[in-house]
Amino acid sequence: MASIKVQCSHCGHEFYMDEYKRVSCPRCGRVVVGPKADQSSGACVIATACARAAGLGDDAPELALARAFRDDFLARSPGGPAFVTEYYEFAPRIVDAIDRLPDRDRVWRQLWRDFQEGLDLVRSGRPELALERGKHLFAELKQRYLGQPRGKGSA
Ligand SMILES: [Zn+2]
Repeated sequence: MASIKVQCSHCGHEFYMDEYKRVSCPRCGRVVVGPKADQSSGACVIATACARAAGLGDDAPELALARAFRDDFLARSPGGPAFVTEYYEFAPRIVDAIDRLPDRDRVWRQLWRDFQEGLDLVRSGRPELALERGKHLFAELKQRYLGQPRGKGSA
């Protein structure tokens, strides 16, 4: 663990963090990305994989909206930072598991549709509902692809 001093790009607060991780700023709660964290997979690994399967790049506007949702809403809602941490722990393994499926294209297309429905809720001013759906979907994916009991940790 290499701890370095960073400055939050949102509020300017300076603090120490692991340079390989993503953490919530102690002052404003927004996500601060360590200089050595994997930026692309850190974005939102499941959404990024969905976008790729749909033929879109990492710069798709849907992904930018998802990142804004994470940093502006999710990270500052009750239980949000804990969910973000859990997400980054399990999401890469879920992506790996889906990528090994023979029908992975069909699974990614379905997830991309679910993801877009969530973004529609964000666009129409209902981010709480989008978060509820997202948590529910994530718990389902964990259970289905990693054998994690539903609801554990994410509630
Ligand atoms: Zn901050």
